[in-house]
Amino acid sequence: MITIDGSQGEGGGQVLRSSLALSLVTGQPFTITNIRAGRKKPGLMRQHLTAVNAATEVGQAKVTGASLHSARLTFEPGEPRPGEYHFAVGTAGSATLVLQTVLPALLCASGPSALRLEGGTHNPWAPPFDFLSRAFLPLVNRMGPTVNATLVRPGFYPAGGGEFHVTITPAANLAPIELLERGETKRVTATATVAHLPRNIAERELRVIAGKLGLTDADLVVEEVAGSRGPGNVVTIEIECEHLTEVFTGFGKRQVPAETVADKAIQQAQRYLSKGVPVGEYLTDQLLIPLALAGGGEFRTLRLSHHAQTNIEVIKAFLEVGFEIDRESPPGCVVRVKPALLG
Ligand code: AMP
Repeated sequence: MITIDGSQGEGGGQVLRSSLALSLVTGQPFTITNIRAGRKKPGLMRQHLTAVNAATEVGQAKVTGASLHSARLTFEPGEPRPGEYHFAVGTAGSATLVLQTVLPALLCASGPSALRLEGGTHNPWAPPFDFLSRAFLPLVNRMGPTVNATLVRPGFYPAGGGEFHVTITPAANLAPIELLERGETKRVTATATVAHLPRNIAERELRVIAGKLGLTDADLVVEEVAGSRGPGNVVTIEIECEHLTEVFTGFGKRQVPAETVADKAIQQAQRYLSKGVPVGEYLTDQLLIPLALAGGGEFRTLRLSHHAQTNIEVIKAFLEVGFEIDRESPPGCVVRVKPALLG
């Protein structure tokens, strides 16, 4: 039985989600203590509990400690079972993070899967749907599986109620990928989405983005969503490069001017554009598990966040892989995944 200290490193939800994901893939049971001890509201929140329940269903697992606010969990997985699933967070908690938990197992499962996920789709501190579908999943698909995600309805904090569907055709093995250069920047576009809020908010956001990033009207999209449960606003900047696409998001918040929301996304985009590395901070977090499962691959990023370092430690508890961080050839550093030397 693997023992994971949930307070290690960042002490957030990723320690739990990565443990569940890797336990499902490898069949190794684990116990986690001090779940999310580094967060203001520690223990299992609704989103984490939904992730635990999703992993339990997919992995036909035996679990103890799966209740709200629980700080300790034991998880003993069986064989992951592909198929049709419906996971609903029930709050605005992130449904994309629920997907993050079961996706690795379903990428390598014995048959295809179709998932219906409900909850938050555009949450701060979680991968927004557009990042998932435009930045992350295309790279996963390059590794062999075919994963498609379709947004039915966005879900914003605090109302939630979003929904998206994911189909997964697995691959027998994940193939390593190499992302050392991003190549030429082909196109930069921005989409501002408003739900039950004035269109003018989205227009102001796009005006600021257009001015600072030199975009023209053809690169800008205002999206007015009618069917969402509650109000919400996000602005997404998509940078399509020759070798990958990166997505940066600003999240609208009450009392925060539209211009400030736009600025948050602009700062991330400008930083990315000025640094000449292909893989941004969040994509780094998400690529670690697929690459570790592939047993190889490499990518260039600016630096490893505390979040990514924590994730690496959790991955090493489940898989015999090594991560080499090469800072010898700037810009940034190259993260290289290798089979661990045994013995
Ligand atoms: P945790 O804070 O431990 O629950 O993990 C949060 C997860 O959400 C990590 O995988 C982050 O990479 C991811 N994440 C947070 N914010 C964003 C964002 N703006 N875009 C993409 N991914 C994000």
